[in-house]
Amino acid sequence: MQYRKDIKSGNKLSVLGFGCMRFPKTLGSFDLKKSEALVMKAIESGVNYFDTARAYPGNEEALGTILADNKARKNIFIASKLPTWTSHSAEDIDRHFKTSLEKLKTDYIDYYLIHMLSEMTTWEKLQGFGIEEWIAQKKKSGQIRQMGFSFHGMRDQYMRVLDAYDWDFTLIQYNYSDINYQAGVSGLKAARSKGLPVFIMEPLLGGRLVNNLPKAITHVFNKTRADWTPAAWGLNWLWNQSEVTMVLSGMNDIKQLEDNLAMAEKAQEHSLSETEEAAYEQARVIFNDAYKIKCTGCAYCLPCPKDVNIPGCFSAYNTSFSLGRYRGVRQYGQSVSFTAKNMRNASRCIECGKCEKHCPQNIAIRECLKLVKKRLEPFWLWIPLKIIRKFMSF
Ligand code: SF4
Ligand code: SF4
Repeated sequence: MQYRKDIKSGNKLSVLGFGCMRFPKTLGSFDLKKSEALVMKAIESGVNYFDTARAYPGNEEALGTILADNKARKNIFIASKLPTWTSHSAEDIDRHFKTSLEKLKTDYIDYYLIHMLSEMTTWEKLQGFGIEEWIAQKKKSGQIRQMGFSFHGMRDQYMRVLDAYDWDFTLIQYNYSDINYQAGVSGLKAARSKGLPVFIMEPLLGGRLVNNLPKAITHVFNKTRADWTPAAWGLNWLWNQSEVTMVLSGMNDIKQLEDNLAMAEKAQEHSLSETEEAAYEQARVIFNDAYKIKCTGCAYCLPCPKDVNIPGCFSAYNTSFSLGRYRGVRQYGQSVSFTAKNMRNASRCIECGKCEKHCPQNIAIRECLKLVKKRLEPFWLWIPLKIIRKFMSF
């Protein structure tokens, strides 16, 4: 495992961090046995940063239980997050933090973040609840070691939030598909110039840079370096940049973990060749042409009152451009269950707007669902499907 220094605290962090949100699940709940195998294998292999959040239901508890059962808490750094959208008072902030400590079975959090601090108005709201005094008190008592924020908004807001407080670190979405999206490369460099370590989330865009990649990108990559997997292309691009301290990956199976560990062994700054850099440029153009809706599949927008499978709809829509309409329609059928009584397709949307308030990518979900409907629910497909459904209801 390669390590990089957190330039603010001096901590030595593994270049690969473990995003626990995507722990494996069985029947909708975290599978503790499988998650434990992953966490312990990661720790044994040198991963020392584990990221969770109050907003990931059951996730802090799963991580806390695994670490307590294996007496592993002291060997690693834990990151968790304060949900801004359910913090309406000083009491809420304190209650969320205490719950995190309790669920994680610990008496301190190494890296505590304000979750989705994507606009100055949110910071100003928290200031009104005395957040700065609260942080100072928690740091003094040792319950919070490093204080940072995660970000999913526009770049101008990132710069303002960055300047609004003496942060210890920052977590941004960043990958080769679009270097100017959200905080982007200028946000990365600005944070670094202020002496902050920068941690990266969505390095593979929720798996979109691995699964269903347009064939033209696969061709470019294979022609350049056939020994790199799509994941290696995604992670090596980030590790190549000296401003990047650590990259979070949401690993949920052992093969994926082992592959990432092998890549993290070799992670080096300034190691890409000119040919490899050129391949990223080509891939970026192709990807943005095919990747119409920038959904990462995080599912923050769910549940929907009409049970629309929003990320499933968007993933199938993007597939219909990257791999062809037939593949997209087929994937759509699997995601929204054409033949089941409880369909989860785009047409069910009643445009209530509830989902859009929670989307970190600021996607106009209602409008995008209309595009999905138009492209993936053509009449020639729906007439036979309606007949099948009618038949199945008898
Ligand atoms: S706008 Fe549509 S998709 Fe979003 S929550 Fe409402 S019904 Fe569901
Ligand atoms: S639409 Fe937004 S909130 Fe929903 S899964 Fe996609 S990125 Fe996440």
